[in-house]
Amino acid sequence: MSELKTSPTLEPRIEESPIDKAGVANAATDARTRAAAPILRNYIGGHWVEASGAGLLDVTNPANGAVLARVPLSGAADVEAATAAAEAALPDWRSRSVGERTEFIYALREKFRARIDELAASVTRESGKVLSDARAEISRSIEVLEVACAAPMTMQGRILEGVSRGINSETIRQPVGVCAAITPFNFPAMVPMWFLPFAIVYGNTFILKPSEQVPLTSDLIFHIFEEIGLPRGVVNLVHGAHDAVNGILDSPGIRAVSFVGSVNTAKYVYRRAAEKGKRVQALGGAKNYMVVMPDAVVDKTVSNILSSAFGNAGQRCMAGSVLVTVGAAQAAVMGELKAATVKLIAGDGMDSKVSLGPVISPGACERIHEAIESGLKEGAELLVDGRRPKGVPAGGSFVGPTILNNVTSKMRVAREEIFGPVLSVMHVDSLEQAIALVNSDPRGNGTSIFTENGAAVREYSRRIEVGMVGVNIGVAASPAYFPFSGWKDSFFGDLHVHGWDAVEFFTRKKTITSRYFSAGETGKYFVEQGDKH
Ligand code: NAD
Repeated sequence: MSELKTSPTLEPRIEESPIDKAGVANAATDARTRAAAPILRNYIGGHWVEASGAGLLDVTNPANGAVLARVPLSGAADVEAATAAAEAALPDWRSRSVGERTEFIYALREKFRARIDELAASVTRESGKVLSDARAEISRSIEVLEVACAAPMTMQGRILEGVSRGINSETIRQPVGVCAAITPFNFPAMVPMWFLPFAIVYGNTFILKPSEQVPLTSDLIFHIFEEIGLPRGVVNLVHGAHDAVNGILDSPGIRAVSFVGSVNTAKYVYRRAAEKGKRVQALGGAKNYMVVMPDAVVDKTVSNILSSAFGNAGQRCMAGSVLVTVGAAQAAVMGELKAATVKLIAGDGMDSKVSLGPVISPGACERIHEAIESGLKEGAELLVDGRRPKGVPAGGSFVGPTILNNVTSKMRVAREEIFGPVLSVMHVDSLEQAIALVNSDPRGNGTSIFTENGAAVREYSRRIEVGMVGVNIGVAASPAYFPFSGWKDSFFGDLHVHGWDAVEFFTRKKTITSRYFSAGETGKYFVEQGDKH
């Protein structure tokens, strides 16, 4: 395999950060950890195989910059090999009973429960989030597996007797074929598991292209698939970045694509896959507003704002990145919010005393610093400054919790998704103004309102153009048994993730209209005996 050539569209993972040059692992350390780092393989047709002629990218621990592994940047040929394996596995897999397929999901659920610590540690190591967040992510993956076990119920069709004399119509659900998912860095386990269990339990075969920044948890999950004895080719893993994605979008054998990532990539994936006639669901980025009314319960509201804004170091599509205070709420919450924020501790997510881990890469760190600087230049007030967090490990990509106050909707920090631990605060006079502000954003993933006033909740929930609404809850991500998705630029497609939409996305409906004339006796046709019985 060759070294990665600089690509104009791909951000190098190891780079010197202009923020804290002393903290970045030096070249000699990089060379040593890189030499010891394993080179990952693809999992195709039940075999661990080298990617064909691909470059390699470093996978680093964002808490200290150490190279954990090297991931191959697979191309269209690798995707085609995976598609061929998935197509070959399809006839046998879809012919198995739904109960037999469900047994595999039960087995996976048991493995996930037994290995939750190992899976969570893998998530923390490569993504940086604190262990408690990583465990919550695995718990949500287990919840998805449990919901997928309802397949013998959810996959049922419908029948109507007597649509005409002696004629029945029935709709059955059949698998779509080979399905693929392309996933982001911020949930290395949960986002792949949003799709995979449903796809396979409904009789499809599957290809995963995980984020090249966090491929190790997928590698571990696919080793678990191997242990439960899934038939070869039912699940396939192709590592890589843009070339692998384009391979998936163009592959004629892949019938459905699920995507999660930033807005522009989501738009691109949706357009290109749909043009090739595929079924697509593409979830994009977000800017989530938390509206606090004057009657909100202050201490509970502040603790929810903290976990929403700074949990996962703000790298959640459901992160509350903008706080909107209405009227007297400003005076009620801002003091307590500042006092609670400065107590948060940034550091290695493996350390149980730490409240927020690093961001994913030196490049992300730099981007977040630039966003903060732009806010200051445009007139925002720096209420809490997290630009140089104290006591964090050397070589890590750390940004401490930051609050920018008096932000206006024209500022860059209000317009762009920062995807880091930066909370922008805006103040308005009325619920009406808050609704107008939230609805003026082109995205609409999640939002929260904090109030004890049912009428305000009713009005806000009814009028807000956002897919998921929390009431006195900071991160109102739908449970696995409800559909999950945003609106507007946060989602391109029709059918949402998990819940009852999963069976719609991963099955095709077929309607059969039928009649039978006799039980072998000529001249005594049931259809003509009609009313006699
Ligand atoms: P990203 O868009 O950079 O990458 C997502 C996937 O797309 C990766 O697998 C990557 O390899 C691939 N990719 C990236 N650029 C590409 C290109 N130009 N051509 C082809 N493939 C490309 O996203 P990310 O940085 O990994 O994840 C963070 C983003 O994901 C944030 O915007 C976040 O809000 C969003 N996100 C959304 C949801 C949701 O449910 N709406 C959930 C999680 C994350």
